[in-house]
Amino acid sequence: MKMDRATCFSNSKRIVVKVGSSILTGPAGLNLKAIRSISRQVHRIIGQQREVLLVSSGAQAAGIRKIGLPRRPDELPMRQAVAAVGQAGLIMEYEKAFSKYHKKVAQILLTNDGLSNRKRYLNARNTLYTLLSWEVLPIINENDTVSIKEIQFGDNDNLAALITLMMDADILIVLSDIDGLYTKNPASKAEARLIPMVTHITKEVEKMAGNLPGSSGTGGMVSKIEAAKKLTSAGIPMVIANGNHPDVLLNLMSGKELGTFFVPKNNKFSGRKSWIAFNLKPKGMIRMDQGAANAIIKGGKSLLPSGIVGVEGDFQVGAPVAFSLNDRMLGTGLVNYSSADIRKIMGLKTNQIKDRLGHKPYDEVVHRDNLVLTVEDPVGMMPEKSASNTRGDA
Ligand code: ADP
Repeated sequence: MKMDRATCFSNSKRIVVKVGSSILTGPAGLNLKAIRSISRQVHRIIGQQREVLLVSSGAQAAGIRKIGLPRRPDELPMRQAVAAVGQAGLIMEYEKAFSKYHKKVAQILLTNDGLSNRKRYLNARNTLYTLLSWEVLPIINENDTVSIKEIQFGDNDNLAALITLMMDADILIVLSDIDGLYTKNPASKAEARLIPMVTHITKEVEKMAGNLPGSSGTGGMVSKIEAAKKLTSAGIPMVIANGNHPDVLLNLMSGKELGTFFVPKNNKFSGRKSWIAFNLKPKGMIRMDQGAANAIIKGGKSLLPSGIVGVEGDFQVGAPVAFSLNDRMLGTGLVNYSSADIRKIMGLKTNQIKDRLGHKPYDEVVHRDNLVLTVEDPVGMMPEKSASNTRGDA
């Protein structure tokens, strides 16, 4: 069921708010006014019987000032060290701002890579759930000491998307120093126009983001579009709005049409499916034929050996593997057979597996419960009733 924008906000019970370094960086280090404004608004939103998780950048802005550097250093180890110094001050400022409302905060430092381990993923999720149940506000940031992604690529946008998926949140609000996604970078093109709503993340939309980093030399719009892609394909909406506008969060929650809204596709994934799709790195690839793609996409079926036409990579039973049709990536699944065995049984009927392998632990190579379609609008990409199905096996 598709929801309109206002309903998406009013129905949101668990919200992730990502605060970009662009608004947390003031001329003299941290922008305390922004921290106070966001804290006040988050407190009000929690008062509306909603849960909030904050993903906050800004550690470097705080660190540069403390160390007394004239500007952001270029070398990565120095940036990491600056972030380490600044993280304490960042959390302290949030703690101060929230103490006004008697709200406790907690610091969570995570790495994207760490979340691909199911045990660590579940541990992080349990900790966050516990904090929410204690009504403590989690403030999450990338662990810059061990991870250089955020520092290099502004990947807190990506981290915020993963947190939204992991916590089964209803929406991600990305606050930046700009009103939303423009047709071009407004910093250099005066004719750029704000896009209020994106229903499909097309190549054109990706082009709008360009490949330029943002103001602090990090993500810019590119990583925000990447985050929106993940979330909307998992059935979760995202909005980019200007964190410098007073009451931006409150206005969004009350249904005001601010920023750029990314309309969710598909139905919302379960937590397990979003973990398979977005936290695991595929160890190989399975190519399937049109008939298998039809069965999976239209019929919600499992992937059987008969529909497999190729395998790439070496992987073991249980590995995450991407699957594709005609070189187009469709999604990810956990396999019941190793790559070596799939090579032996691909194209075979289920009742031929035992003869070939000497055993048949499963009928399916990927069971439907372990198979996640991440392609946008999968049904729309399928040809009309076997019109182009040259194999005739639909
Ligand atoms: P944050 O620190 O909040 O994550 P960034 O500075 O990384 O923000 O990214 C926001 C910046 O992206 C904007 O200030 C703008 O200069 C730049 N940008 C590039 N292309 C676009 C576009 N098409 N629309 C809006 N902003 C864009």
